[in-house]
Amino acid sequence: MRILVVEDERDIADFVSRGLESEGYAVTWAADGIQGETLARTGRFDLILLDVMLPGRDGNELLRDLRREDTETPVIMLTARGETADKVRGLDNGATDYLTKPFAFEELVARIRAHLRQSGQRSSTQLAAAGIEMDLLARTVEREGREIALSAKEFELLAYLIRHPGQVMSREQILNGVWGYDHDPGTNIVGVYIAYLRRKLTAGGLDDPIETVRSVGYRLKVK
Ligand code: CA
Repeated sequence: MRILVVEDERDIADFVSRGLESEGYAVTWAADGIQGETLARTGRFDLILLDVMLPGRDGNELLRDLRREDTETPVIMLTARGETADKVRGLDNGATDYLTKPFAFEELVARIRAHLRQSGQRSSTQLAAAGIEMDLLARTVEREGREIALSAKEFELLAYLIRHPGQVMSREQILNGVWGYDHDPGTNIVGVYIAYLRRKLTAGGLDDPIETVRSVGYRLKVK
């Protein structure tokens, strides 16, 4: 498994690279955003660790551009403590997950394993349930023949619910499945994104396909 580390702080890059190599990963280090982007676009990596504040090219901009052509490679953002705006931007731009510095190596490895497992399991490129059709390659969503534009994270959330039709999924399961946190129980990011998704799925007066199961989680209704 090949991992690209885009990080300008040498100490962090060394710490991460040495640790990952001892776990059997092949690591390539890019010390600035421009080199990082060039390498990321080669598509040779199974996972990318991406710092936000980088010389040359900001990590969030790099990610946004990368996602236009590569929607599959898991990208874990490395953010500074307390930079909530960076995290939200990263998730909106299609980050798979983020880690706040300073982080424990064990946590990093656990998340890398989880995301590599998830990305390896994608087999079918089309999903359908509750009158909603998704094409995972084209990244399109249709409901009752009408195309719905979703952000990267809304798309992943909907795909997760569609993979578990009729099943009540707890907030924690959704958090782990979609964001890969393991985890911040105080976050309401699942509720926030369910609301975004509902607004888009019910536009034009369509029924709400997502049922809230009070104090448990959410369920995609199956007709
Ligand atoms: Ca940095």
